[in-house]
Formats: sequence, C-alpha cells, structure tokens
Amino acid sequence: MKIKINENYRSVGKSYLFSEIASRVAKFTAAHPEARIIRLGIGDVTLPLTPAVTSAMSAAVAEMAEKSTFRGYAPEFGYDFLLEAIKRRYARFGVALGTSEIFVSDGAKSDVGNITELFGDNTVLIPDPVYPVYLDSNLMAGRRVEFLPATEENGFLPMPDGLRGEGEGYIIYICSPNNPTGAVYDREMLAAWVDFANRTGSLIIFDAAYEAYISDGCPHSIYEIEGARGCAVEICSLSKDAGFTGTRCSWTVVPAELTAGGMSLCEMWGRRQATKFNGVPYVVQRGAEAALSDRGREECLGLVKYYMENASKLASVLRERGVTFTGGVSSPYIWLKCTGTDSSWEFFDRLLTEANIVGTPGAGFGKCGEGYFRLTAFGSHEATDEAAARLRTFF
Ligand SMILES: *Cc1c(COP(=O)(O)O)cnc(C)c1O
Repeated sequence: MKIKINENYRSVGKSYLFSEIASRVAKFTAAHPEARIIRLGIGDVTLPLTPAVTSAMSAAVAEMAEKSTFRGYAPEFGYDFLLEAIKRRYARFGVALGTSEIFVSDGAKSDVGNITELFGDNTVLIPDPVYPVYLDSNLMAGRRVEFLPATEENGFLPMPDGLRGEGEGYIIYICSPNNPTGAVYDREMLAAWVDFANRTGSLIIFDAAYEAYISDGCPHSIYEIEGARGCAVEICSLSKDAGFTGTRCSWTVVPAELTAGGMSLCEMWGRRQATKFNGVPYVVQRGAEAALSDRGREECLGLVKYYMENASKLASVLRERGVTFTGGVSSPYIWLKCTGTDSSWEFFDRLLTEANIVGTPGAGFGKCGEGYFRLTAFGSHEATDEAAARLRTFF
C-alpha cells in the first residue's frame, strides 16, 4: 500500500511481556509435562460476579426481551441511575460530584488510552514502573515522556521534588494503589502532588482502579485532597473489585473547573466520547448499579477480602524469609526484590524451574522494574497455599 502510517507506532514496538511469559511457560511444560504450574502472574480476577450483580443483570436481560421495556442506544455518558450510584459512592468518601462530571465507559484501559486525545504537545510524567498503557498510549500519540522513578529509596512512591515545571504544565499519571508495586500514596503525599500540579498548571490523571483494596486510611479518591478539583481527572473501574474484567464498566470524572486554552476539559471529554463511543450496554450498567449498591458493595468487599487473604499469605512467607518486598497490604500485588540475581527474567526462569510458579518480571513494567518481580493475589486460596509452601522452600 502507499498510505502513510502513524510513524509513532514504530516507537511502541511489540507488546512482548505476556507473550514472552507464555512462550517460556510453554517451553517448560513441554519439557516437564508432570509439573503442576501455579500462576501468580495474572492481573485478572478469578472469582465470579456477585449475586446482587448477576440478579440485576438477569432482570435487565428480561427487560430487553420485552417490547415495552426494551432499550436501544444508552445515553452517551451513562444512565442516570448509574451516574447517581457513582455519585453516592463518592459521597461515602466525602467527595461531592455533579453527575455531569461523570462519564461511564467500557473500561479504565480505554479511557486511560483515549484521554491523550484531549492534549497537545505537553511533557508527560509517567511513574516507572507502572501499568504499561500510560506509556504506550502516549508514545502512539507522539508525546514527550519523562519517567518518575519508583525505587526502594523513595518507597516506590515518586514525589515531585526536583521537577522543574517552570513555564508549562505537565500531564502527570498517578496510579494509587500502584500496579505493579502495590505502593499507595498517603494523604500528605497526594496533597504534595496536587499542590505541585496547581502551582505548575499541570493535570493529574489519577488511576484509582484498585481503590477498593485500600485498608490503611490512604485516600480512595484524589478528590479527597483539597484543590484536586482544579487539577485532576480520575479514572476508576469495577474490574478489579467487582470482578468486571470480562463484563466491562468503568468511569472517568472530569471536574467542571478544569479548563485549558480557554476550553473546558469536561466538555471536550464529553465531545470525544459522544463522537467515538456509543455507551455501555444497559444490562451491564444495571449490573454496575447493583455492584455500587450497599448490598453489592458488601459482596464486592468480600471478593477483595478473599484476594487479600492470598496477599497476606504470600507476604508472610516473604517476611519470614527476609525477602524485600512492598505491596500486599492495600493491594492485590506483591512487588519483591529478586534474590540471587539482578535480572527479573533470570529470576522468572529460576522460579518457574525450581518452584513451578509463574510470576511477572518487573522489567516488563519499566526500566526501574528490573531486579523486581510481581506476584498477584488473584488465585484461589488452595493454589496460593500451595504456592506459599513452595516459596518457603524456594527462598
Ligand atoms: C486493570 C487495570 C486497569 C484496567 O481496567 P479496565 O477497566 O478493566 O480496563 C486500569 N488501570 C490499572 C492500573 C489496572 O491495573
């Protein structure tokens, strides 16, 4: 063909992490068909949707089967019943939002990737390591990216200290609790970021996908911090707490105060969504409403509790063995320092060979991930017990 392509895709490269893991595991199991592999690498939930959610979805399916209650296109930004449920959820954190500031979507991943369309040629600050979508979507858009190193020295929680920031604003990504490190920003730290963003005219994109895992008093929403409405967009999802990874429902909050270049970001995002997105299915939105109800919330916290029991089993083995790690407290992820090697892929191979456990090499989440390794708590209690026993021998 003679068409011109988006040259930026050359700099994104192949997404190689999970295919490389799959190929190494396949090679190992071919050579050792008797090995019972335990997968602690997945970033996907395993428990089913809860009864409140499935019964609401069943009722919605029945409505769709009747001429009198059938629904076609959903309102572009979400049904009122769901916007109100999300608004009530924020009210529990003491955060007041208008429903016109909430945009229901089919996933935090889509919104994280799509929101880059709203911005011009800014410098983008991205934590390293972090969820790879932030970097890749900005590379696809041809943006200048600078990394915020998350290291043992800063407790895996980079702060704005030392950032220049004079003249122009940054686009700043914050993921708290973080994937993959499990590190969580406390109130003072988030206040420092909000203060920095307001002083420099920067925008924070706050990814709260693991909000429900927070158990230690850290903020669940960036809007718990004074001044955040003037500098932050928040993206949240039902994937990791309500088990919606395959059902798909999330939302993005864009406060009315956010303006740049004389334009309202809230109006811009609305325009973008109305043009390129046609809404989340009615059945799914009814399920999401149920997940956010009092009963649904209780059930979802039961799912979170189940996963967090896994996290604490894994964490206690690491503690007992003197392995350096973070996470596993307000996060389903454990981020450990590789032992016996500085290479997270070498560690991957050794853990696979000696303990038949699959995890995720830290190098896959950014340069600063090298030398680290992610374990997840999304497995069953039985598999995690077995993994914990094997890890006790391994370390
Ligand atoms: C899983 C995950 C998401 C994706 O959420 P979806 O709503 O399923 O698209 C977003 N951000 C982070 C940090 C995640 O780990």
